[in-house]
Amino acid sequence: MTAVEPERDRLLDSVGEAADATDAGLAAGTAHPGFAPRAEVDGPVDRAAPISTRGLTRDYGKVRAADHVDLDVAPGEIYGLLGPNGAGKTTTIKMLITLLAPTSGEAFVAGADVVGEPGLVRRRIGYVPQLVSADGALTGRENLRFSARLYHVPGDVREALITDSLAFMGLADVGERMVRTYSGGMIRRLELAQAMLHRPRVLFLDEPTVGLDPIARAAVWERVRGLRDRDGTTILLTTHYMDEADELCDRIALMHRGRVAAVGTPAELKAQVGAGATLDDVFGVLTGTDLEIGGTFRDIGRTRRTAQRLG
Ligand code: ATP
Repeated sequence: MTAVEPERDRLLDSVGEAADATDAGLAAGTAHPGFAPRAEVDGPVDRAAPISTRGLTRDYGKVRAADHVDLDVAPGEIYGLLGPNGAGKTTTIKMLITLLAPTSGEAFVAGADVVGEPGLVRRRIGYVPQLVSADGALTGRENLRFSARLYHVPGDVREALITDSLAFMGLADVGERMVRTYSGGMIRRLELAQAMLHRPRVLFLDEPTVGLDPIARAAVWERVRGLRDRDGTTILLTTHYMDEADELCDRIALMHRGRVAAVGTPAELKAQVGAGATLDDVFGVLTGTDLEIGGTFRDIGRTRRTAQRLG
């Protein structure tokens, strides 16, 4: 417990623009015949959980990007949404952080309703987007000062928190350097530092290691674990890397065409398929497709753009 932790509810004000307008008028999406959804989870939405959703659905015109997603994430869990490009991971995360209005369903994050209390949700969460968000023309410390103002971190603790966050992410020696001189791994760790500055209860990471080499990826994983261990932060991340989900996540929801196909620990999921099975095998058995396959040209193009900017 840090000295600033009791203050955290007061620190954050607004992370971004309010959610876009509800798409209540959009046509219902198409079902996916042949795909058997997992059994419904028990009970109603848990309003006190770090993340709890029931029937969370989002349509883009006739495309159903997230289809009745039910999730229950426990305090301090590192929870992965795993699936190929286009599975609905980003859409789900955007609804949870109030950047996108659900078409239907319920979601509570950090004890607040994403539809009814979006400001409260934003004050209690941190978010690292898939596309690079740090400003290359500023130093690491200047980027963090900007985040501190955005999150309304009080002036008297601001510099101490920034110094602490830089050190925690292994960036103490490069804090005064322009971010455009950073490696991709350093940029990702700076973005983690920006998102954790106000000590959020729940941290959302969208494809945190896309485009990073194995050493840089392992360094990001280590800091994510460290954050959970130090502050008890609950972390939800999206990934299409099986090894990332296997290595880093306490539990995984496997997503396919907007639906949650299965939930469990990596070991539980693999045990369902048999000895020596990988998560890719689990996904193949559940969906009849390969994790590596999937996604439209647009989906894959976005991943590549992120990889190029970090690479
Ligand atoms: P990625 O790994 O590429 O981020 P994802 O699992 O996060 O993929 P989403 O980005 O949530 O998947 O996309 C789910 C589906 O919704 C895809 O078919 C995608 O093409 C579609 N989609 C996403 N955003 C939009 C949009 N703004 N307009 C129309 N369709 C969209």
